[in-house]
Amino acid sequence: MTVPHPMIALVTRQAEAEEQHWLETLRQAMPDETIVPVAAMSAEARAGADIAIVANPDPADLRLLPNLQWMHSLWAGVERLVLELADLQPKIVRLVDPRLGEAMAEAVLAWSLYLSRDMPAYAAQQRQGLWQPLPYRAARDTRVGILGMGALGMAAAGLLRKAGFQVNGWSRRPKDVDGITAFSGRDGLKQMLGQTDILVCLLPLTTETDGLVDQALLSMLPRGAGLINFARGRIVVTGDLVEALDAGQIGHAVLDVFETEPLAPESPLWSHQKITILPHISGPTNPETAAAIVAANIAAYRCSGTLPDLVDFARGY
Ligand code: NAP
Repeated sequence: MTVPHPMIALVTRQAEAEEQHWLETLRQAMPDETIVPVAAMSAEARAGADIAIVANPDPADLRLLPNLQWMHSLWAGVERLVLELADLQPKIVRLVDPRLGEAMAEAVLAWSLYLSRDMPAYAAQQRQGLWQPLPYRAARDTRVGILGMGALGMAAAGLLRKAGFQVNGWSRRPKDVDGITAFSGRDGLKQMLGQTDILVCLLPLTTETDGLVDQALLSMLPRGAGLINFARGRIVVTGDLVEALDAGQIGHAVLDVFETEPLAPESPLWSHQKITILPHISGPTNPETAAAIVAANIAAYRCSGTLPDLVDFARGY
């Protein structure tokens, strides 16, 4: 007779309907596991649970699980877990989903073309009833610099290359990828920025990247460069960006992420002519594919005790 696995705790701070949807999707992906929201677990079940599946969990809920061996985040970004669980430093597996990479790559391509083909300027001209062709800039003549060459940065770089853009990438450890020039370190960053027409931010938010894109960094870009921030709001110093836009140092910024979300209705960013605002939609999580990945990771753990790469609390991602 096989011994049933301990229950898996689902720990989220999501609205009830959203949590319910995740629960159903996860249960379908793992019919052999028993997944239960932590609030609905008995004291005995909580005492036995070795795995939690988490989405922005309340740390107090995780403390209800004394036997927890590791947790699987349903999100790719884990800065909040790193911050809130710094004292526990649990084993955290974050979501790495090629489907998320595809969605993000598509968004980076779409908004890179939006900038390279001057759509903000044509939209402004339309509002003025102005018929005026601007000089054509081909993708092949446009240099995109990506900050962060992880799962998402690499996916974006690949699609940008296919579309003909020149692509450079910056990461902590330099990458060796065909057709993409890799940079690392502070000197590498400066070198890359000097040859960047569109800067794309796909870094995790850590103590090192918090406020990284500031006046000093923006001033290293060629005048009129575009900025796309699809990572986290705090990586860009908003005041410095607005000054750089007003001074013409940055031509246009596409922002999908903000320090506070949703962006407050009274924020001056909404009406800034050189800012395009998106409501955190560049890389949506697909619950079905995410659940399949979580299921595969849990199955491997049950079978052989192995786990994919863990979040490194010292690095912060
Ligand atoms: P990842 O695989 O962990 O990649 C992170 C990349 O950033 C790596 O290349 C890493 O370098 C580099 N990096 C980290 N700290 C650095 C530093 N101090 N200096 C230089 N490079 C540094 O993460 P990911 O899955 O690509 O996701 C990136 C971020 O996207 C997430 O953390 C999340 O905040 C954001 N995100 C946004 C959305 C959205 O809808 N807007 C959706 C999903 C995720 P190494 O390669 O050397 O480690």
